[in-house]
Amino acid sequence: MNALIGPQSSHNTVGVKVGDICIGGKSPVVVQSMTNTDTADAEATAKQVKELADAGSELVRITVNTEEAASQVAKIREILDAKACNVPIIGDFHYNGHLLLTKYPECAQALAKYRINPGNVGFGKKKDTQFSTMIEKAIEYNKPVRIGVNWGSLDQELLTGLMDENAGQENPKETDEVMQEALIVSALSSAERAVELGLPKDHIVLSCKVSGVQKLISVYRDLASRSDYALHLGLTEAGMGSKGIVASTAAIGVLLQEGIGDTIRISLTPEPGGDRAREVIVAQEILQTMGLRSFTPQVTACPGCGRTTSTVFQELAENIQSYVRNQMPVWREKYQGVEDLSLAVMGCVVNGPGESKHSDIGISLPGTGEAPAAPVFIDGKKFTTLRGDNIAGDFQKLVDEYIEQRYGQS
Ligand code: SF4
Repeated sequence: MNALIGPQSSHNTVGVKVGDICIGGKSPVVVQSMTNTDTADAEATAKQVKELADAGSELVRITVNTEEAASQVAKIREILDAKACNVPIIGDFHYNGHLLLTKYPECAQALAKYRINPGNVGFGKKKDTQFSTMIEKAIEYNKPVRIGVNWGSLDQELLTGLMDENAGQENPKETDEVMQEALIVSALSSAERAVELGLPKDHIVLSCKVSGVQKLISVYRDLASRSDYALHLGLTEAGMGSKGIVASTAAIGVLLQEGIGDTIRISLTPEPGGDRAREVIVAQEILQTMGLRSFTPQVTACPGCGRTTSTVFQELAENIQSYVRNQMPVWREKYQGVEDLSLAVMGCVVNGPGESKHSDIGISLPGTGEAPAAPVFIDGKKFTTLRGDNIAGDFQKLVDEYIEQRYGQS
């Protein structure tokens, strides 16, 4: 009933293996995230990596910025392995990655992938040497890399060169266009250099992150048309709360719909005390609502209106949503395919029965002035009507029974 059929990647990219995960090629779009703990604190970092992995992050990046951090990477891997958490961890390097990967071989080995920012690997002659050292380490340890360009740390020598060249043209381009070109040239020329040094093309992922929605779409369309490297998508510095979610979704949704993007990361600024795993849930929800992947049963709920004056409807929608998400670690193991289940929690008779019939299991609650009865629909047919003070509990029981009956055999 709820088979997910969505746009598949039309931008054919070279697949890159990161541990057991494949980015690009014919693989589904991969969800990744990043910790915000001090990597030198191995216990805290391993704890957060595990939380992100438990939430569904298939790759987790950690910053490796100091010797103290690099010295703890192998320990972080050990702690995760001891907890049977095999999520690949990616090292994020800036400025000193060449030194850290050389001085801490156990760090170079424990990481599943290295992120290199070509704008932050030194200047002048040093730039090539330091970049080369990192690529040589990737070759030595057989690790893939992401060449991750960011407009906040764009290679200034390259940008200045392109600006000067542009100024000498008869019809110079706008500054913005030259900047876009610099982002793309930085990624592509660095990838070319890595290949020259001996890193296979199927060990390279590219990204060109900017913080504006229209600019990100424009940059990635351009980048995708000019290469077949696997692409990491993300709106950098997306911001907090709904702004960050909406901006990321707007940009990433357009690109994914065009078949551009092999792995995504949602760069949300967590609210104080907020849950870091929210960025994982948002990434999953983008992919699932677009019909590209299934992670968890989807709950359709109406927005409510003047016909739903009590809070019963909102409470039930919220309870079912959290119940489903909390049960997923167990259900995933026990009930193969359960992530494709669809549920509906509707506020009144106007659209309630219709929407509920379109779901695998749905409930239409009584709106204001309606008889205190909640019809439940299963597989498109009326199954029962719930009444009394425990409608939420009774509906949850029906959901459990339905899942056991439908997916329990597998
Ligand atoms: S289904 Fe009913 S309660 Fe929900 S938005 Fe529509 S009219 Fe309002």
